[in-house]
Amino acid sequence: MLIDSHAHIQGKEYAGEQDAVIGRAREAGVEKIIAVGGAGDMSSNLEAITLADSFANVYATVGMHPHDAKDVGADELRRLRALTSHPKAIAVGETGLDYYYNHSPHDVQRRVFTQFIQMARDTGLPIVVHERDAARDAAELLRTEGAGELRGVIHCFTGSYEAACTYLDLGFYVSFTGIITFKNADPLRDVVRKVPLERMLVETDSPFLTPVPHRGKRNEPAYVRFVAETIATLKGLPLDEVARVTSDNVQALFMI
Ligand SMILES: [Zn+2]
Ligand SMILES: [Zn+2]
Repeated sequence: MLIDSHAHIQGKEYAGEQDAVIGRAREAGVEKIIAVGGAGDMSSNLEAITLADSFANVYATVGMHPHDAKDVGADELRRLRALTSHPKAIAVGETGLDYYYNHSPHDVQRRVFTQFIQMARDTGLPIVVHERDAARDAAELLRTEGAGELRGVIHCFTGSYEAACTYLDLGFYVSFTGIITFKNADPLRDVVRKVPLERMLVETDSPFLTPVPHRGKRNEPAYVRFVAETIATLKGLPLDEVARVTSDNVQALFMI
């Protein structure tokens, strides 16, 4: 069994096709899917929860992407906090820091990330963190604001092995996408070889980051298999073991 730990299949890219997409995932051995809210706008959170309500094997998270931190005020935080009490809302996020695109000012990103860390602590839920070119600040906030009470994952990890170790030391998991199948990703493949499987998740981040051999087309949860196969090859392990351990990791982190 595989689990796609991060997908945005509630989005308009899949309108009217969710049954088929979830069916193809199941045929590929992907038995659970986490529909991550907060990429897009506030409605992506409600849509994730609606999808989780409709499919027993789909779960939801609620948050707002760091790109949109500038749009997160007290009202949005109150509404998101209320959504966390839904039985299939299993994590806070995605949230974090993105200093590559800089769609929101850094100080605003840090304020909102801190507020979501607080929400995760208050609710006891794990946190789904998006971090790009901001490892130092993200680790610092997770350490100081998390105060040892925070569990979570750094999703779509693309950083250095040193950055991965910082997150592992904080008790976090790191999650890999189809990027590890890309031709130019040798440095990241080295990180995959070194990070212990017991601390690793797999995801698609659908509809983005479609793995080879489907690169260029829309991504979907069935393709998380290509991510797991690449990890198996890099680590010299059977695919079954990669599937089993990464699924155990998801279940331990998100309690699903
Ligand atoms: Zn992300
Ligand atoms: Zn995402």
